[in-house]
Amino acid sequence: MLFGDSPPPGLVGIAKLAAQSEVLESKRIVQYFEIGCRSVLNRTRPGMPFEWSLNPYRGCEFGCRYCYARYTHEFMELRDSAEFEDKIYAKSNLQPILRRELKKIDGSGGIAIGTATDPYQPAERRFGRTRAALEVFAEHSGVALSITTKSDLVTRDIPLLETIAKRNSVSVNITITTLDTGLARALEPRAPRPDLRLRAVRALADAGIPVGVFPNPIMPLITDQERRLDRLAKAARDHGASYFGGGILFLMPCSRRVFFPFVEQRFPHLLRRYRERYESDPYLKGPYRDMIRARINEIRDRYGLASSPPHRDWAPETDAQGSLFASSATMPACVH
Ligand code: SF4
Repeated sequence: MLFGDSPPPGLVGIAKLAAQSEVLESKRIVQYFEIGCRSVLNRTRPGMPFEWSLNPYRGCEFGCRYCYARYTHEFMELRDSAEFEDKIYAKSNLQPILRRELKKIDGSGGIAIGTATDPYQPAERRFGRTRAALEVFAEHSGVALSITTKSDLVTRDIPLLETIAKRNSVSVNITITTLDTGLARALEPRAPRPDLRLRAVRALADAGIPVGVFPNPIMPLITDQERRLDRLAKAARDHGASYFGGGILFLMPCSRRVFFPFVEQRFPHLLRRYRERYESDPYLKGPYRDMIRARINEIRDRYGLASSPPHRDWAPETDAQGSLFASSATMPACVH
């Protein structure tokens, strides 16, 4: 009860009933923090399709069950996986630091926004750190910029992206793991619905921003079926996407701690197989990879979709941020 066993005297009617009500469920509380940073551009490992990454936030409220990026909270000694979703850190001083760093690097090798957090998660509405970064990119030229998101909030920044595109290359990768709204809700509890993401694809394409769809991560026996991927690629094409790719689920220990219980609850018949495949190695190897690669290639051909944005000449065999299939050694951070 709100007031313990006995409600305050004087309450009558609905007020008394309300005071006597049992708590059925308490809502999760998301806490937002400001965190200072010494740098905002991070050098990626050799073999990645972009040389730099930028994440305006730490943590991600979307709470995808498969999220690999949970480990980033461990750097702050936050090891409870729920804290990755409930404690969101917005980077402060982002603009001056980015301005300073952009003077020192060659951005034509690729700068990817959103490799370890969704840059358009709910915090962005309030803190605008992704937008702040884009404002800096709008002052520059010669940068190859890509953004990966699950959120239709990206459409807010279309005018800014158009400005950036005048002197830089810019592309947006929209992640849609499935068109099945119920499954998407289970997998990505607080991310926008798949139809909203498709609407964002349409809006970006209409604005002339190169946009692609990635069904990442492709989850064996959950989202990897030919018909599911085909439907998704067709919807992507119909909404104006020009490229399509896919990377197979990889499960670091931090993601297994969340994903395995999810599988146990939602797909109990798959748990044993997931455990066998992923317990000792975060990456799936062998013929399955070849089969999915061939499947994606066929689907792409069927709908006339490229493997990467038109302005980049990334080798198709290289994994873009979630785009294609990397060797396990170079599997990129970004799956979202
Ligand atoms: S996969 Fe991406 S969108 Fe989902 S919780 Fe992780 S960072 Fe956020």
